[in-house]
Amino acid sequence: MSALRAGRPPDRSGRSGEQEEPGAPGASAASLDLPAMSSEPVVQARGLVKRYGNRTAVDGLDLAVAAGAVTAVLGPNGAGKTTTVETCEGYRRPDGGTVRVLGLDPVADAAALRPRIGVMLQSGGVYSGARADEMLRHMAKLHAHPLDVDALVERLGLGGCGRTSYRRLSGGQQQRLALAMAVVGRPELVFLDEPTAGLDPQARRSTWDLIRELRADGVSVVLTTHFMDEAEELADDVAVIDAGRVIAQGSPERLCRGGAENTLRFTGRPGLDLGSLLKALPDGSEAAELTTGTYRITGRIDPELLATVTSWCAQHGVMPDGIAVERHTLEDVFLELTGKELRA
Ligand code: ADP
Repeated sequence: MSALRAGRPPDRSGRSGEQEEPGAPGASAASLDLPAMSSEPVVQARGLVKRYGNRTAVDGLDLAVAAGAVTAVLGPNGAGKTTTVETCEGYRRPDGGTVRVLGLDPVADAAALRPRIGVMLQSGGVYSGARADEMLRHMAKLHAHPLDVDALVERLGLGGCGRTSYRRLSGGQQQRLALAMAVVGRPELVFLDEPTAGLDPQARRSTWDLIRELRADGVSVVLTTHFMDEAEELADDVAVIDAGRVIAQGSPERLCRGGAENTLRFTGRPGLDLGSLLKALPDGSEAAELTTGTYRITGRIDPELLATVTSWCAQHGVMPDGIAVERHTLEDVFLELTGKELRA
């Protein structure tokens, strides 16, 4: 195969580390009807370090979470996602760096922060003998303006399990109850750890709908997930964590455009002058004749590039057949950035 490359390679660096200083706490929003109006990040970690003994789980991590957005935190197992999120929730004290959540210190200001954030832990954090409805109602009473518990229960398909103790609920029901408990107090910011792990497709859909509604109401959502489709569906912003650092952050669209190259394929007359074609293409593009008469262009494939390729073909009397654009998914980007499968 022959392959050529135009100009310099594109910049693939993430934008972590470029965030601004945290400001004052955001405007207080006690209910879903009064969303936080602040444009300051709702979570700001700078140079965060967390060690367990001599193992460094989080290694100088910078992360800014935008207000009113859904931010998905992705990373391979052991990357430091849970440790980061638990530090933001005030469950762990940083060994280095700073964390501010709604402008406050999650450990020192825990009492002030607790009513303003909702936390869904992966493994319950729930007294296993308590009944589902008791727990939810108890949680609702701790907040000034809770959601309607009955409506929430119905919404999440928990209607039939109010009198059942937590430990007797199915895994999916426990999951949905944990979600209900995280949002019942109408928090300004919710942390959801793998909210749809183990859910059937219908429960997954209703969880997604609920997350969308939270966002529509101005609630900021931080979500860890193993599901790329979930991140693609829900996230305004994706932070990819690997080896204790944020290695890339941006919208799914931006990451798919900038983090991995897209591909244009076509067939045509064998032996086209790819050097001439590349001169017409933007820097960073590559062109190769993979097998005789089968061509592949990689780089930023946008309508302009497609037009350039077809007009170059027209000028050279080439009829490009079977033109196909292959867009990279978040899964491809993830693999490229971390060298690991998300579910490995
Ligand atoms: P992730 O959520 O991305 O899978 P974690 O934050 O759970 O990553 O873990 C990051 C690293 O810290 C891993 O190497 C893990 O083994 C280690 N770790 C996590 N929790 C503890 C703990 N309580 N004690 C010791 N090591 C831990």
